[in-house]
Amino acid sequence: MDKEARLRVAIQKTGRLTDHSLDLLVRCGLKYSRGKDQLLCYGENMPLDVLLMRDDDIPDLIQEDVCDLGIVGLNVVEEKRLGFLARNVAPLFEQLQALDFGRCRLAIAVPDAFRWESIESLQGLRIATTYPNLLGDWLRRVGVAAEVVTLSGAVEIAPRLGRADVICDLVSTGSTLTANHLREVVTVLESQAVLIRTPVPLPAAKETWLQRMLLRIDGVQQVKESKYILLHAPRAALPEIRRLLPGSESPTIIPLEGTPDKVAVHAVCRENVFWETLESLKAAGATALLVLPVEKMLA
Ligand code: ATP
Ligand code: ZN
Repeated sequence: MDKEARLRVAIQKTGRLTDHSLDLLVRCGLKYSRGKDQLLCYGENMPLDVLLMRDDDIPDLIQEDVCDLGIVGLNVVEEKRLGFLARNVAPLFEQLQALDFGRCRLAIAVPDAFRWESIESLQGLRIATTYPNLLGDWLRRVGVAAEVVTLSGAVEIAPRLGRADVICDLVSTGSTLTANHLREVVTVLESQAVLIRTPVPLPAAKETWLQRMLLRIDGVQQVKESKYILLHAPRAALPEIRRLLPGSESPTIIPLEGTPDKVAVHAVCRENVFWETLESLKAAGATALLVLPVEKMLA
């Protein structure tokens, strides 16, 4: 197959998104070999290659039509999008799916001793960030005039160095903030990893593979929470048991040989199944309860 017909997917080379991104592609069926330069994973069983890049470069690679698909944090996508718009350049990446990993938020944090009352407390202050476009856009939207101090990293020490009064940075657990005597006060953007694509029409064969990957990614997302439940139940208890099964549409009811008043129930539950649910099912008369993970799902 000629090179042009292979889909190119950009993911983060090393960082928080790397393992999850590769894992997602592998779950979609990709088998790959890693190139000598460690920058490209060659898809052996599908016409798809994975480029390993700095996360900040991923939207640009789509913009420049070097890659067709990318997996990157919404924070990076939005920062780039606003950057292109500010320069009067049309952003050439479309957001497809949220991928449910790399969750974090871009938030304003203030030194422990800071007297925070409301967003108004930011009026006239210097805010250090590596996300000047997102911060600037948010300040405009909330109507606060503050100075954006753009840094390339180590934002959390800016207040102690006297470079800024407060910061605007990515937070997940908040432990970095605590360690730096800072406290989170307001969220600017909720983020997670998202799939982006080029809006440029692809050759038919490539587009077909892209659509197939999208369906598979959907399938992977769905099975994550899904469980397959098997149980035996008295016929009379069926209404109650169906009510208790979490997120299941239409369970399969199978008669049990030799016991006309009992049935086997098989159901796909699209939510996690907790011990409490099993205990309620048992209390409702269910026996022989079995919960199995779902490996693949194609709607
Ligand atoms: P590089 O630019 O070298 O690819 P990086 O330092 O920008 O790496 P990471 O720290 O690995 O990247 O973060 C990548 C993405 O992970 C972020 O853009 C964000 O979407 C997400 N993320 C999730 N939790 C956090 C967090 N606590 N801090 C920073 N990023 C986080
Ligand atoms: Zn980065």
